[in-house]
Amino acid sequence: MQERILTGDRITGKLHLGHYVGSLKNRVELQNSYECFVLLADVQALTTHFDHPAIVCDNLRHVAMDYLAAGIDPNRSTLFIQSMIPEIAELTVYFSMFVTVNSLRHNPTIKTEAAERGYKQLNYGFLGYPVSQAADIAICRATLIPVGEDQVPHIEQTRKIIRRFHDLYRPVFPEPQALVGDIPRLTGLDGGRKMGKSSGNAISLDSSPQQVKELIQKAVTDPERIHKNDPGHPDICPIYSYHQAFNAPQADDIYKNCTQGTIGCFECKTKLAAKINELLEPMNERREAISNYPKQIDEILISGTERARALARETMQEVREAMGIAYF
Ligand code: ATP
Ligand code: MG
Repeated sequence: MQERILTGDRITGKLHLGHYVGSLKNRVELQNSYECFVLLADVQALTTHFDHPAIVCDNLRHVAMDYLAAGIDPNRSTLFIQSMIPEIAELTVYFSMFVTVNSLRHNPTIKTEAAERGYKQLNYGFLGYPVSQAADIAICRATLIPVGEDQVPHIEQTRKIIRRFHDLYRPVFPEPQALVGDIPRLTGLDGGRKMGKSSGNAISLDSSPQQVKELIQKAVTDPERIHKNDPGHPDICPIYSYHQAFNAPQADDIYKNCTQGTIGCFECKTKLAAKINELLEPMNERREAISNYPKQIDEILISGTERARALARETMQEVREAMGIAYF
């Protein structure tokens, strides 16, 4: 049987370069050799955006468009909407019977995200989103999960949940593996934090060449470099990390010239912007072509969700039988 990928994104905003290097690039490459399911995570988006559901709704088609523009082929990959698969919510409840609150409280990504968002109290839905994510993965019986580094603790938690389910009842699910992209965590334009949709520090995949240039020129650089000819410290400069991600063949030269003070930040940023624009250009062309057919996007989402729902129903039948709660 062909192995299966499940991966996805919270539909809290447009996809950005961090998504591309962390996960999307792998999805596009692997859709030829795996059965690929891509989740538009609207329920998980509501864990932080429940008071602004319109943002989530508005982003659905935009994220779908980002996928297609990045090269996700709807004939090979199944795009589906989380809230339209009620079996995920059902499996989340069953899993939540045996997941301890402490294991969620100690999840490092939950801690980081809660601190970044300034949460003093954790809502039940936010604290429990790794359980819901485990249900997303398990319901698809996925084996490989392309993700950025921040998601690795969640995949580990998923594996534990699945093992516990098997100990309690009987084996139903494969144990999934995380597949982290070439750049596990792309820094945001403000330096330090990861580039994130909700953090206002991202370059979205639909940026125009001019927007890319402006965003890069404004980005934080090595704080210790004051004058153009000062030796720079690429290891602490987000722009250098972008060269590694998007301009790998020239990154060594950039490093040398920066540390010797023979390239200024303006020139270094101009080179980088050109490379990022090379990456985005074919995506922008595909986006332009697709945007003439908005109905097709809806059809792709509807048929993908139907396919995912059929799989989810099958899995839940097995889950109920394994748990001994299939009554008739
Ligand atoms: P939000 O800020 O709303 O949480 P996000 O930008 O963190 O949005 P998610 O939808 O949470 O995006 O993440 C989707 C996928 O993209 C995950 O696999 C995540 O690890 C990956 N990803 C997101 N940001 C980055 C990044 N900066 N570097 C590498 N991978 C990333
Ligand atoms: Mg996130």
